[in-house]
Amino acid sequence: MNEAFQPSRNLFGPIIVHSQSDWIISHPEDPQDFEQFFTDRFRKAPCPKKHVIYLQSIGSLGNTRVIREEYIKWLKGYCEAFFYGLTVRFLDPVPVSATKCSFRVNEHTQNLQIHAGHILAFLKKKKPKDAFCIVGITMIDLYPRDSWNFVFGQASLTDGVGIFSFARYDKDFSSSRYEGRVKKPTRTSSSDYTIFDNYYNPEITSILLWRSCKTLTHEIGHIFGLRHCQWLACLMQGSNHLEESDRRPLSLCPICLRKLQSAIGFSIIERYKALLRWIDDQSNDIIGATPSSDHVNLPKPVEAFKDWREWIIKCIAVLEE
Ligand SMILES: [Zn+2]
Ligand SMILES: [Zn+2]
Repeated sequence: MNEAFQPSRNLFGPIIVHSQSDWIISHPEDPQDFEQFFTDRFRKAPCPKKHVIYLQSIGSLGNTRVIREEYIKWLKGYCEAFFYGLTVRFLDPVPVSATKCSFRVNEHTQNLQIHAGHILAFLKKKKPKDAFCIVGITMIDLYPRDSWNFVFGQASLTDGVGIFSFARYDKDFSSSRYEGRVKKPTRTSSSDYTIFDNYYNPEITSILLWRSCKTLTHEIGHIFGLRHCQWLACLMQGSNHLEESDRRPLSLCPICLRKLQSAIGFSIIERYKALLRWIDDQSNDIIGATPSSDHVNLPKPVEAFKDWREWIIKCIAVLEE
């Protein structure tokens, strides 16, 4: 915390507003300090009986089995380091048809979309007894209601469920090259889910991994009761568009870090070391690796995490002073 108040140090910077469309200007919200967070009666915190973060993929996450499996391990490992001390489990993947959700083709972008509220209802039913929360992830775009164009994600804090899509993190999403466009017209709310078979999946690049780790931890942060940060540059800053969400850091400011620490009870330095291990560990899986004969060791694309790695090393050095 001391670091944030020393102008000569540069670990924590202010929030810099770049345009009028930035979140902090376009969505005025009450700030939340530690006291307000801590005394929030509706806030949910993990406890020994409910200490697992469950991740559930909906539909395919990657074009090959190896990519799908490795990507899931990377996300799981990242969440385990970020929410250090909690257990993170991936439930068996489910196809879109299992959720019985409505779907449609977006009339502007021509890509497939699934109904976020229906997915939340499905996840709520599936939530295991020892879950702190259950979070769905998908590469298919989401819509919250017919009149809306799209939504990046949706969560219910009281139910401890959330669903987030990484479809719009594809580098080609808004270009004419985007391959997720559906050529032939499709009926909305049809019960024929075959349209999702072999549907386009974005390539798991370093930037996609970086964006998905960032979104997942920001959104799970909300489930812990952290509101949008208005103190310093921080993962928990609100974001209105992709450019703004790319700008916000992967790290929590000292105030949000203190909130998360009070909910989980980790050692700050051990958490930073775990995050560093995740970036540096090329064997991908930290816990529970089951080597198999057909296991292909895909290198984790961590290039986009380089600056953050340097930052963590500086933090560890300060904490060890
Ligand atoms: Zn948010
Ligand atoms: Zn913050």
